[in-house]
Formats: sequence, C-alpha cells, structure tokens
Amino acid sequence: MNADSAPAPADCIFCRIIAGEIPSDQVHADDRVVAFRDLQPQAPVHVLVVPREHTADVRELATADPTLLPHLVAVASQIAAELADGDFRLVFNTGAAAGQTVMHTHAHVLAGTDQHESTT
Ligand code: IMP
Repeated sequence: MNADSAPAPADCIFCRIIAGEIPSDQVHADDRVVAFRDLQPQAPVHVLVVPREHTADVRELATADPTLLPHLVAVASQIAAELADGDFRLVFNTGAAAGQTVMHTHAHVLAGTDQHESTT
C-alpha cells in the first residue's frame, strides 16, 4: 500500500478480480494495471483499466502514484488500437455524486462505432 492511499476494503470487487477470486474477461495485464471488459457494456468496446494497487478514485491515485496515469492512458490507447479503430473515450467517474459505483480507481475505455454519444 502506498503511504497516500487508504487500505482497500475487504469486499472491493476490483481487488477480488485482480486477485483472481472473481472471473473477468481480461484483455490486458501488466505489473501495474489489469484491463477487463465491462459487464454492462455501453459501447462496442467497453473495457475497464484498473490499477492493481487499491485507491478509491483518480483524485487519490493522482496523489498516491502520479506516474501511473500516463501508463494507464498508454494502455487504454493500446486497447483501443487492438480492439477497435484506435479512437476512444476515457472516462473516470470520480465520486458517488458523479456516478462512481465501484470505489476502486478505474478508467472506462469506450471505443468502436457509435460510442461518441454514450454518457458513461
Ligand atoms: P463506475 O460506475 O464508473 O464505478 O463503473 C463501474 C463499472 O464496473 C460499471 O460499468 C459496471 O458495469 C462494472 N462492473 C461492476 N462489476 C463488474 C465485474 O464484476 N466485471 C466487470 N465489470 C463490472
């Protein structure tokens, strides 16, 4: 755990996916992030890029490990190039009032045709 990040709740669903306790449709994994398809896709390609280390949201991540953000964007770009035409939206819902439902930092990668109007 980084000094700037709170401990992960024991029931964090994304920590459990990263640990392999819950199955996921994984499309990328490295030593810093994993990426898997969203259970309820809002675009032809809808992948979540999730840092392995638990932080609650991107505000916390930006303080705890600022070098991870450019890596996360590079992974998102690679996924959009591999699974779609390369163009993509990158969405961080940040805080419950902004629609965040899973309190483990994640970026939505939305790609493929007609994805420009989704509101995720
Ligand atoms: P948020 O609303 O930005 O927090 O996004 C959470 C996302 O996680 C939603 O789009 C959910 O569909 C997705 N989700 C929740 N549980 C799972 C799962 O077990 N596997 C894949 N996606 C999930």
